[in-house]
Amino acid sequence: MKVLVINCGSSSLKYQLIDSQSEEVLAKGLCERIGIEGSSVTHQKAGEGKKTEAVLMKDHTDAVKVVIEKLTDPAEGVIASLKEIDAVGHRIVHGGEKFKGSVVIDDSVLEAIAECNDLAPLHNPANLIGIRSCQKVMPGVPMVAVFDTAFHQTMPGKAYLYGLPYEYYEKYKVRRYGFHGTSHDFVSKRVGELLGKDRKDLKIIVCHLGNGASVSAVDHGKSVDTSMGLTPLEGLMMGTRSGDMDPAIVGFIAEKENLTAAEVINICNKNSGVLGLSGISSDFRDLVEAAAAGNDHAQTTLEAYAYRVGKYIGAYAAAMNGVDAIVFTAGIGENNAQVRALISQYTGFLGCEIDLEKNKAAVGVEAVISTPESKVTALVVPTNEELAIARETVRLVNA
Ligand code: AMP
Repeated sequence: MKVLVINCGSSSLKYQLIDSQSEEVLAKGLCERIGIEGSSVTHQKAGEGKKTEAVLMKDHTDAVKVVIEKLTDPAEGVIASLKEIDAVGHRIVHGGEKFKGSVVIDDSVLEAIAECNDLAPLHNPANLIGIRSCQKVMPGVPMVAVFDTAFHQTMPGKAYLYGLPYEYYEKYKVRRYGFHGTSHDFVSKRVGELLGKDRKDLKIIVCHLGNGASVSAVDHGKSVDTSMGLTPLEGLMMGTRSGDMDPAIVGFIAEKENLTAAEVINICNKNSGVLGLSGISSDFRDLVEAAAAGNDHAQTTLEAYAYRVGKYIGAYAAAMNGVDAIVFTAGIGENNAQVRALISQYTGFLGCEIDLEKNKAAVGVEAVISTPESKVTALVVPTNEELAIARETVRLVNA
């Protein structure tokens, strides 16, 4: 089957066409500035370079049409016609408590996703627009929704409830949901395969360290805790997000700086984290470079980042009463050996010994980075959320 995977943002649309049998990406790309002046599409056919072209896209339906034009283009395309697309898999950010797994999309699913809009006002409406646009351009093609939150729906109440008046949970569903679920699921499954064991026999801590970052505790195949909360702001310090902090800081800064709570939260989302703390960049490559050049601020930021990851690893080992494997994934987790080495300062007490040479060599590849004697296996496993969405789409369409 050929599956089109769509990840729709408010003004962007990422796509990949995946052959489900070979699991190869046939082509991929990104439509940007949809509905804004200066919209463009960047398309890449497998084995060829990226090409960016200015194309007027006044809405997401235009963007989906552009994607189909690119995929069927005689030179840049990889299919002869739209008919070759067997199914579409959509990444949906928030499934609330309604969605505990992926689903085939019908009208009732669209309604239920819309009911979760309140919980992810920036993402879910855009995801819905993506689905409706694809339905317009590709009527009759089966579509599947894969949720970022679904994998974490196995968390017990003690992990997902906040210490707030219970009525906020009852009235507004204020609770921990967690995100990056597709990645935590994909990577923890792969750890089982790499260790030659069933994931159901393992306690795994997954560190998804990208621009957005979260840690999860996967106990015998089920997520039992994760660091992101009601929104993706909680937990680790991230590229631009603050992560955990005293909630009273919001009111304090609002008063001092004459801002509204919403404005302070916006700063916590967009101008904080390693960008805010270092004042240098949200990109870890810049930070590592600055630290190597002797910038103390950059070094302290890297240490603060790693310290938080270390603390979450300790917490989740306690949550599961043990840990068999710690796995690093996403941009930083897969590529940044220096950050992994800093984190390893906090894992020794668990019996997790990192081999610094193996760690250094593991850049963007699957690898075990712990010593043979280590009681806990540490690994690097590149994530692939699009492939995970394509697999879910095929599973449900063929069910
Ligand atoms: P992601 O959101 O998963 O794309 O991750 C983005 C982060 O990964 C950025 O902070 C990048 O600095 C980091 N990253 C991506 N590629 C590399 C690399 N080759 N070496 C070091 N860091 C990288």
